[in-house]
Amino acid sequence: MQKGNIGVSTENIFPIIKKYLYSDHEIFLRELVSNAVDATQKLKTLASVGEFKGELGDVTIHITLDEQNKTITITDRGVGMTAEEIEKFINQIALSGANEFLDKYKKDANAIIGHFGMGFYSSFMVSKKVEILTKSFREGAQAVKWSCDGSPEYTLEEIEKEDRGTSIILYIDDDNQQFVSKTEISRLLKKYCRFLPVPIAFGKETEWKDGKEVETDKFNVINEVNPLWTRKPADLKEDDYKAFYRDLYPMADEPLFNIHLNVDYPFNLTGVLYFPKIKNNIEIQKNKIQLYCNQVYVTDSVEGIVPEFLTLLHGVLDSPDIPLNVSRSYLQSDSNVKKISSHITKKVSDRLEEIFKADRKAFEEKWDDLKLFIQYGMLTEEKFNERAMKFALLKNTDGKYFTFEEYKEIIKPNQTDKSDNLVYLYCTNKDDQFSFIEAAKNKGYDVLIMDGHFDSHYLNHLEQKLEKSRFVRVDSDVAEKLIPKDEKHDLKLTDNQKEDLTTVFSAEIPQMAKSHFSVVFEALGENDSPVMITQQEFMRRMKDMSVLGGGMSFYGELPDSYNLVLNGNHALVNRIATDIEESVGEKLTKIRSRMTSLESRRSELEAAKKDKKEEEIPQAEKEELDDVNKKIGEQKDKKEKLLKEFAHSNKLVSQLIDLALLSNNMLKGEALNKFVKRSIELI
Ligand code: ADP
Ligand code: MG
Repeated sequence: MQKGNIGVSTENIFPIIKKYLYSDHEIFLRELVSNAVDATQKLKTLASVGEFKGELGDVTIHITLDEQNKTITITDRGVGMTAEEIEKFINQIALSGANEFLDKYKKDANAIIGHFGMGFYSSFMVSKKVEILTKSFREGAQAVKWSCDGSPEYTLEEIEKEDRGTSIILYIDDDNQQFVSKTEISRLLKKYCRFLPVPIAFGKETEWKDGKEVETDKFNVINEVNPLWTRKPADLKEDDYKAFYRDLYPMADEPLFNIHLNVDYPFNLTGVLYFPKIKNNIEIQKNKIQLYCNQVYVTDSVEGIVPEFLTLLHGVLDSPDIPLNVSRSYLQSDSNVKKISSHITKKVSDRLEEIFKADRKAFEEKWDDLKLFIQYGMLTEEKFNERAMKFALLKNTDGKYFTFEEYKEIIKPNQTDKSDNLVYLYCTNKDDQFSFIEAAKNKGYDVLIMDGHFDSHYLNHLEQKLEKSRFVRVDSDVAEKLIPKDEKHDLKLTDNQKEDLTTVFSAEIPQMAKSHFSVVFEALGENDSPVMITQQEFMRRMKDMSVLGGGMSFYGELPDSYNLVLNGNHALVNRIATDIEESVGEKLTKIRSRMTSLESRRSELEAAKKDKKEEEIPQAEKEELDDVNKKIGEQKDKKEKLLKEFAHSNKLVSQLIDLALLSNNMLKGEALNKFVKRSIELI
């Protein structure tokens, strides 16, 4: 028997393995099974080039669990190892710079394992002793047993072994007894080994006999050696893709489309990606893509490997060229990863464009479900945005779909404003904004629906991408003014009338929490509505965005500010102006003339003190100015009181305001009740 020390430059590698690799203990099985697969694949390759002339036979890899002795054994019929090979591949594990590297990556188990080719040594994370029983495929090879109990010391001895290949026996230590369990091993095999290219058997298949579950003599093969993504697209039908999807995500809805990736130059990448139906909660959609390396499962968190928006896709990626055993930040700067990432982006947009071109109808039908994904991509990936501009759709209130190119042509004649900007009108709620949509349509405008999760960001984005274009929500102004053109009506009201109407209408606007109204006048047509409520586009967008987050919570705190727009040319508004004149006109004239003289006196007093220092102004003048100011205030109050009384007594004012609120879906509760009562009285 030979004894020796494992060649590590650090004092002892095992404490490090045990200490730092704790979070990922379970990967030991993946590492050992994939070594067995590698050894089998190597032998197959040697056979195919004629270097191995024996029978390959059944190469199934067997996992056995001995619950009594607390061992797990992984047995393959691959190339096996000679004593020299053990010396070279197992004993000499430490490479130069080990200390430095361990220091850098001590929190990242995968990194250490991958970097050192220490996959095998991960077995010591769960074992107090590991044995290798192996016999090389080479003719006349001597079988050997290597044994190590977790110290740097190992033993190597010659043994009798009939068959070629390797058995690794793990003596599970006390801290890891959870792995001495049939269900746990099954779980790990299902997670990591489900699609490995060599049959993996764990125990025997069972069947029900006489009301009991009994073992058959058939081995229980846990994997699918030719998973869908490794097969030729030409040999596959739509149903195969669907079946594979159900296999991967038994709980998910049927996917919309799939993409079969198959690249072998300048990097290797295969896989199948699916477009899921994306619900509004995009977080739960993420991390559904499974990443494989030569059919060995690695992770389902692909951030850093594919662009953010692609993490919404589902499916499988398999590439030996993604350096899986390094940290995420390293991944992002790796040039292969960058190439792979932009390749996938391109494939995804090509596929979408292809479906769009080949079957526009199907594409439109699925648009509402695809939209969130495509918008996310457009917002976050410049390259994808460029491509998607060709097939991204806009949907209008009639449920029709247009490309940007098509839509532009449709709205150009009628929706170009006086500064030559194209105005895209949109609504966020067809019911709430119904009267505005109708008004816009009556003017021959088209209105888009923008009611999605990302739409408020998206339209900002589009304004930057589309030349000379603006998005305007249909209720942000009266239809007449949504798209400013040169035609203009004159306002029939005088300044005094406007002032009085402002006070009268302000007095009757119902109190609403977190809402602020300003009365403004517009010279609209006689047939347009008398009173309307609009919300300023800019503020509203800021508030919408603050709901989505992104450092705009400041806007979220502000009250909603609305305009109460009075159509100065409408007969009803003019009638109220006349009513004011008739009922309180005389009194108002008196107050106004009183105010005019007070104000001119104030101007005189202010002019007199303008260039003087405080102490140079005579006391009498100061007192008079205070007095004049006070009197002006009194007149103002008087006027306001008068107008408020008028407003209360005039049912038409409240009725017009309520009608405007009603068409914005803003009349609720008590106010709605009052409106109904008043309407009946008025009838
Ligand atoms: P890697 O697989 O990355 O090379 P490992 O630590 O997993 O690193 O394995 C080290 C080496 O030990 C392998 O490259 C291989 O030469 C040898 N080896 C491990 N397991 C087996 C096995 N089951 N059969 C034959 N050789 C093996
Ligand atoms: Mg390995």
